[in-house]
Parts: sequence; structure tokens; C-alpha cells
Amino acid sequence: MKIDILTIFPDFFRGPLDYGIVRRARETGLVEIGIHDLRGFTKDKHRTVDDRPFGGGEGMVLKPEPIFECLESFGDVASREARLSPDAKQSVILLSAQGRRFDQALAAELSTLDRMVLICGRYEGVDERISEHLADREISIGDYVLSGGELGAAVILDAVTRLIPGAVGNQNSTRQESFTEFAGESADEDAGEGARATPGVRATLGNGPSSTCGSGGLLDYPHYTRPADFRGMVVPEVLVNGNHEQIRSWRRKTALAKTLRNRPDLLERAALTAEDEELLDQIKLDPIKQDRDSQTETGQAPSLRKVGDLQKVDE
Ligand code: SAH
Repeated sequence: MKIDILTIFPDFFRGPLDYGIVRRARETGLVEIGIHDLRGFTKDKHRTVDDRPFGGGEGMVLKPEPIFECLESFGDVASREARLSPDAKQSVILLSAQGRRFDQALAAELSTLDRMVLICGRYEGVDERISEHLADREISIGDYVLSGGELGAAVILDAVTRLIPGAVGNQNSTRQESFTEFAGESADEDAGEGARATPGVRATLGNGPSSTCGSGGLLDYPHYTRPADFRGMVVPEVLVNGNHEQIRSWRRKTALAKTLRNRPDLLERAALTAEDEELLDQIKLDPIKQDRDSQTETGQAPSLRKVGDLQKVDE
């Protein structure tokens, strides 16, 4: 995928693009990222990119000319009309607090594009003609106001890049993360349509304990690594006993509990199985009992209590 970022602060992107998955994706050619300084598309000697707002009021507004001219200089961006068609493979996106809110589903949609252009606003915002005539969509990364679109562009770029096939070593790991609706395309295809509404069933179709638990639109389940006992905080016994079915069930239960606690809104949209509903009822009826049950699983009640406390701090 080719990604172009239009900004008045090109140096801002030193760093966000140079680490981990994004760096590797650039090095292997999965993504090609161009950073474009809007001041290079000005014509006056002060390289002016902003001006006062018509109608008066606070602050400055990014001028339309440099943004139009920068985009036109690429020479291979499809017309806005073509980009708005349902099978379009390109998108020109304006970062804006007034845009559609970015989420994992939108990241997945954007990861199928060949070309993405991200326009970063600054000051009071961008001349509205960019949104009306140049960009094909406005995206907000959340309900708060940032001082510029650069952080938003970096967020979108990161979330999208890691969903491009090949960017993450084990693609299964991106299929079972928080917010991801479906556990795995191949499993879905094998199991047919019926499995789409039954994430619990689909979850058993993986290839081992590390990929047997699709998020199904929930938050991710808790992860632990070695040492199994760290300062008396022990990992849940169920995760070290090697019983895949018990691990799957524990992960589903803890994902449900965490989603109920932190993001109950997600439960309304998640496809829940009868088993999920039953687990949820148990969790809602007696959260303290759930704690006790988990402790019984580890056989180390006081230590697990500490693990639970630690999780809360981490969140
Ligand atoms: N006056 C605007 C805010 C301008 S902030 C308003 O009230 O909506 C300056 C720039 O920061 C914006 O043009 C946009 O590019 C970027 N920005 C601010 N908040 C953002 C958000 N939540 N998501 C994405 N971009 C944002």
C-alpha cells in the first residue's frame, strides 16, 4: 500500500514510522510511506500555509491551495468520484475532530486499499473546501480535540499497516485481538455462514491453544508469560495445564468479564453464544464468586488476588 501524509510538520513523523511492525513493513516494501511538506507547495516568500478565517473569529485556518496542489502533484490519485465508489482502492482522508470515529472495523476496511492519503490539519482546522471537494472522507481518532492531525495520521497508519497481510508475523494474532469481529477468515469459510454468529464454535477451529479464542467483537482476554510465579503472583493454573478446551473456555470467560467491566457497550454488538450468555449471567449475578472460581482454578487464592490487582493497575 502506498501512504502519503500531507503536513506542515514533516519532522513529526521521525519516530512513529521507525519502529516495530511499521518499520518492518516499510523495509519489506509492504507499505511505502511518503511525507509531504505543505510549505513546499506555497508560492510566496514566507511559505504561508494559513490565513485568517472569513467571517472573523479565533485562530488561523489552513489554506486550500497548498493541499490541492500537493495532492495533484502525485499525478496518480483517482478522481474524488472514483474514490467514492464502493470498490474504490484509494482514499484521501482528512483528519478531523468532526469526522467518523476511527475503529478497528474501519482500520480493516482501509487495510484493503492500494493507496491512502492522510491530510493533517492544524490551528483552527482546514478550509472546508478540502472536505467538500478534495477528501473523500473525514476521520476522527476520538472524541477530543488534538492540536494537529499528525498524531491521528500516525494512529491510523499504525492500525492499518498491522492489518495488511504479511505485516505481522503470525496473521492469526491480529484476528483474535480486541474489537475484532471474526476469529479467522479461513475458519469462517470452512465452517460456513452458520459459524459467523457462533464465535464459541468458531473458536474451537484454531490450530492450538494460542489461536483458539477469537475475540468475536469483545476485548481481548488476559495474557501471561514467564515466569509462572513472579514475586508470588502466579499465572492462572488453567493456562499451564495444556488442556486446550479449558484454556479456550477460561479465555472466553475472562474476555467477557473484562468487556462487561470496561466496555459494556461492546457486548450489545457482539455475537454471543448460549455459552457466552450463561457465563455473562454468572459474572453479572456474582462477580465476587467469579473471582473465587478463578482462584480455585489456580489453587492459589491469595496470589491470584494479587495478579487481579496488578491487572487493574495495568488497565
Ligand atoms: N476547530 C476544530 C479543531 C481543530 S484542531 C474543531 O473544533 O473541530 C486542528 C487539527 O487537528 C484539525 O484540523 C484536525 O486535522 C486535527 N484533529 C484535532 N482533533 C482531532 C481528532 N479527534 N481526530 C483527528 N484529527 C484531529
